[in-house]
Amino acid sequence: MPASPKSSRLGAYHAKRRTDGTSEPMGAATPAPSVGDRLFVVQKHAARRLHYDLRLEMDGVLMSWAVPRGFSTDPAEKRMAVQVEDHPVEYADYEGVIPDGNYGAGPSIMWDRGRWVALEPPEEGFLKGKLLFELHGYKLRGVWTLVRTKRARQTEPGKEWLLIKHRDAWAHPEPSGFPEESIVSGLLVEELSQAR
Ligand code: MN
Repeated sequence: MPASPKSSRLGAYHAKRRTDGTSEPMGAATPAPSVGDRLFVVQKHAARRLHYDLRLEMDGVLMSWAVPRGFSTDPAEKRMAVQVEDHPVEYADYEGVIPDGNYGAGPSIMWDRGRWVALEPPEEGFLKGKLLFELHGYKLRGVWTLVRTKRARQTEPGKEWLLIKHRDAWAHPEPSGFPEESIVSGLLVEELSQAR
């Protein structure tokens, strides 16, 4: 089960707490939004099914979504993004071949990396099911939205999101596509497994 940002982790605790009769701190209902830029990484991962892992640093972890069809610069394109387990921040450096018999076995290249900037408070946005953010990567640029699907809202926790390019200078209705090689080794994900 993917862990949620701090605010929803506190939700169950707050539900059991009274605000009177104790001097214990409650913690804010909505923690102060973290402002500023943070790390993001995309790993192209040839597991049983090829996908791109979009990971955004939030609350000391990398919140992660698997995007099977990858990224489109066309704002009319909605790409399914399935939320998966939070990963440690150190995972952002990973490129290699996950050995057979392990979770996610297969080669994974560092497809893109950079900083991301939340344009709305992300912890609150996560709870509401909408994240608006800007990517400053080598390949991915401009403003993007992640929206939790209605279907997902009926199940807890909702795992299905849609990734959509926002209309801005980086949007192209006729996308030319992104280079597919690793930004660190220059290898394609297919070549990485052969390089072993
Ligand atoms: Mn993966």
